Amino acid sequence: MHNFKPHYPHSTPPKPGELMAVAEGVYWLRMPLPFQLDHINLWLLEEDDGWTIVDTGLASEETTDLWLQICTLIDTDKPVKRVIGTHMHPDHIGLAAWLCRRTGAELWMSRADYQQCRVLYEEGNSEAPAEAVQFYQAAGFSESELDHYRARFGGFSKMIRGMPRSYRRIKEGDHFSINNRQWQVITGEGHSPEHACLLCPELNIFISGDQLLPTISSNVSVWPTEPHANPLQDWLNSCRRLQPLLPKDVLTLPSHGLPFIGGAQRLQQLVQTHEDDLQKIYQRCAEPLRVVDLFPLIFKSTITHQTQIFAAGESYAHLHCLMARGLVCVDADSAGVNWYRRA
Ligand SMILES: [Zn+2]
Repeated sequence: MHNFKPHYPHSTPPKPGELMAVAEGVYWLRMPLPFQLDHINLWLLEEDDGWTIVDTGLASEETTDLWLQICTLIDTDKPVKRVIGTHMHPDHIGLAAWLCRRTGAELWMSRADYQQCRVLYEEGNSEAPAEAVQFYQAAGFSESELDHYRARFGGFSKMIRGMPRSYRRIKEGDHFSINNRQWQVITGEGHSPEHACLLCPELNIFISGDQLLPTISSNVSVWPTEPHANPLQDWLNSCRRLQPLLPKDVLTLPSHGLPFIGGAQRLQQLVQTHEDDLQKIYQRCAEPLRVVDLFPLIFKSTITHQTQIFAAGESYAHLHCLMARGLVCVDADSAGVNWYRRA
């Protein structure tokens, strides 16, 4: 299973500002991201009497201009009926308010992700709370790393251009119809609180958001607002639950990378990789270690001031999962730094 390689029916993605049909009435578009992860895939669903936009891209001039370009390509005599946000992250929801305002569309989102996004957006202008600084200090951040955290605090809300003040809730098990075809909402946890995926059995299409990606592993992090969370177990449970729901030959449309076939095997591979990492960390915990000591093992990309909170979040997530399984315990030293060791 480690060697599993997905099959990619479309080898070349659409260029920025272009649309590519991937199924009847389902269009793929890409927006740039100014990160190591340099793009996001968005989807447009066409009906006889309107459009549905799935995810919006980051709030930036570049993305806004590309949306204006896209609007010249589609039949805008038909209204945009809804903007569906798969989850609360800025690359997915950054322009939701702008698009909804421009088009008169409703925002459809899960309740937990909508509310969490509103909270994070609205705390953007405040200072880093003491609880959050303590959380990263306990992870083993140095003073200069903590200073960078304080300086960057509120970055989330700068990547979002407002949030609609009302929305329509979508939840696990919901169905809705687009062109007389049923789309089913399947939610997952771990990457975000209540991530929504969309399955259309008739088209054999699965819009997976960040819940299932072909080449990279989605970030699964503990955050300072809920410092005792165990998102990795939530994530593993979600992967196992999703696996039997996916038809074998379903075309998965992920938010990053290329559309692919082999979603169920890929889920199995992701679970296996995390379980292997948990095993390695358990071995390493023969000697007491801190959250930051796990960065090279857990976090595959380069660690910068921008990514240090993701590395900490993922390391915490693995340690909390091992603690919930009764395999690892923790002691804080006199400086408030956590040291983890085998139970
Ligand atoms: Zn995400």
